[in-house]
Amino acid sequence: MLSVRELSAGYDGSVVVDRVDLDVEDGEVVALIGANGAGKTTLLRAIAGLHLAVSGEVIFEGRSLAGSSAAEVARRGLRLVPSDRRLFPDMSVRENLQLGAHPRRVGQRDLSAVVDLFPRIAERWGQRAGTLSGGEQQMVALARALVGRPTLLVLDEPTTGLAPRLAAELYQALAELRAQTGVTVLVAEQQLPRVLELADRGVVLEHGRIRRQGTAQDLRDDPEVRRAYLGVD
Ligand code: ATP
Repeated sequence: MLSVRELSAGYDGSVVVDRVDLDVEDGEVVALIGANGAGKTTLLRAIAGLHLAVSGEVIFEGRSLAGSSAAEVARRGLRLVPSDRRLFPDMSVRENLQLGAHPRRVGQRDLSAVVDLFPRIAERWGQRAGTLSGGEQQMVALARALVGRPTLLVLDEPTTGLAPRLAAELYQALAELRAQTGVTVLVAEQQLPRVLELADRGVVLEHGRIRRQGTAQDLRDDPEVRRAYLGVD
């Protein structure tokens, strides 16, 4: 579904994503693992057309994304949920979801699917998004991407700022989403145990380069990964 080839990106001449190759197959959940500053956000933004790559190629469902605007990329079915959520704070939850479905109208089917997944949202249709708690905002951000019916959902550190219980709830919802829809997911995280329970495979990004990759089980068993990302000796 997604094929990233030799992708490099950075800021003002500094390279923070360095010749990255990454594949995501239809129906897979792939974890992009890396510490603060490893380049995860820059890589995801470059894939989604929000940051101009210096070189390399992104092929989505067999077609290059070169020259596509972020809006075109989203219309083609690749939706990025940024870690800072980017809701419209003065609009209601419902209005935020309507924007996610644009140019379609949000239908009843979309709304019931979202409510099944995140029952908390149903209690808050009319509330201004800016007044929601961090966890609720993350759920609305995810719901907004889902009403756009993505084929590839790209999540940048979805549990940032969430209490452990809410982070667990969010991953539970992602597991249900996967079971119900088979959506393909690329998810960046620094917190390993949870994301590796959901993911089929993981790739580890360090200083902008892919240093290791393997099945979730391989990574859980890898002593280097355990030391660096699980704090286990
Ligand atoms: P985190 O987990 O902390 O969000 P990350 O893996 O997502 O980190 P990036 O946000 O992609 O990493 O940042 C990679 C590097 O690029 C960092 O050194 C960061 O300081 C730098 N960087 C990010 N955004 C900019 C920017 N707008 N201008 C200049 N440098 C930037």
